[in-house]
Amino acid sequence: MKAVAVFLRSQQVTVIEQEAPRLCEPGQVLLRTLDVGICGTDKEICSFEYGTPPPGSDHLVIGHESLAEIVQVGSAVERFGVGDLVVPSVRRPCPHPGCLACRSGHQDYCYTGEFTERGIKEAHGYMAEYVVDHERHMNLVPPGLREIAVLAEPLTIAEKALAQISGMMQHRPPWLDPQAPAQERGQGLSALVLGIGPVGLLGAMTLAAAGFTTYVYSREAPPNPRIDLVTAIGATYVCAQATTFPDLAAQIGNIDLIYEAAGHSHFALQALQVLGTNGIFVLTGVPGLQAFIQADPARLMRDMVLKNQVLLGTVNAGPEDFASALADLDAFQRRWPDAVRTLIAGRYLPEQAADLILGRPAGIKSVIAFGL
Ligand code: BGC
Repeated sequence: MKAVAVFLRSQQVTVIEQEAPRLCEPGQVLLRTLDVGICGTDKEICSFEYGTPPPGSDHLVIGHESLAEIVQVGSAVERFGVGDLVVPSVRRPCPHPGCLACRSGHQDYCYTGEFTERGIKEAHGYMAEYVVDHERHMNLVPPGLREIAVLAEPLTIAEKALAQISGMMQHRPPWLDPQAPAQERGQGLSALVLGIGPVGLLGAMTLAAAGFTTYVYSREAPPNPRIDLVTAIGATYVCAQATTFPDLAAQIGNIDLIYEAAGHSHFALQALQVLGTNGIFVLTGVPGLQAFIQADPARLMRDMVLKNQVLLGTVNAGPEDFASALADLDAFQRRWPDAVRTLIAGRYLPEQAADLILGRPAGIKSVIAFGL
């Protein structure tokens, strides 16, 4: 079968032929891969800046944003049957008995850092025709989401952030009525998203759907289909080339939430300086090496303390976040069908993966499809 792999020593990204995997534990399922999304992390892996092959392997099969069909189940599998569509989670627990996070099934909060991540860190990924995995890492996809469920994994980033923010919001008196329905959690509050990559756009959709008055700020100038998507979901796009952070803050008023999805340290630091009173700043981007910049930490500390601000970093996601992502994809599809259609730029062959990953993104989300 075909798989797309990165060879670190020879610095190659290529399609390889390998034997199809077989079930070897009763709790496992055999997956036939349908779609695998490409993201910034894949680009870093294929540029040899990030990612680690499994121990003893000279290559890493990439791909962590997957949608697959179950084609065989082990004798102990209870929750799934042949023909089910699933989205697998990415992270697998570390082996340490003392890691409270991993031992309780919350490896997205792993303490030791010795977790593995499929397609990223010490475990092969999903950009392969067939994959074997344990049922406990599968998330059931309703058939109506076949066309867009590949977006579930990148959407979990926003879902995990929103779940954490919601908890904090309940303890910030001016913010939230704990009884408010999910789509009204952000009512009366402003959210600013930084960046219009897939994580930023999916974040903007999540926040707009939760009732926040949503602004998206990035350097791209119109015309741009990503900016059109921002407008189509009722959010406001502000171009960083034309508007400074202080001007943006004057336009928005108190900025209650900033959702950073650009992975750019300088941009994030500037944004932190306009975060409003009682504001929460969420960091989701993982920056590579960037230019050293000067900052005024005393001013940042003063603001954070005197304005009750929160700085939150968030990575990966748990099963509840996958469930929220799948429910929200369904809600987005109903509410903004045209915008959702534009999220997936196209489906391409595994042989095109290297060029797509390393080239300039053609649309919002490029997908490698098996069986095209
Ligand atoms: C993935 C996460 C992963 C993170 C860090 C992201 O692209 O979506 O699942 O935890 O990279 O490796």
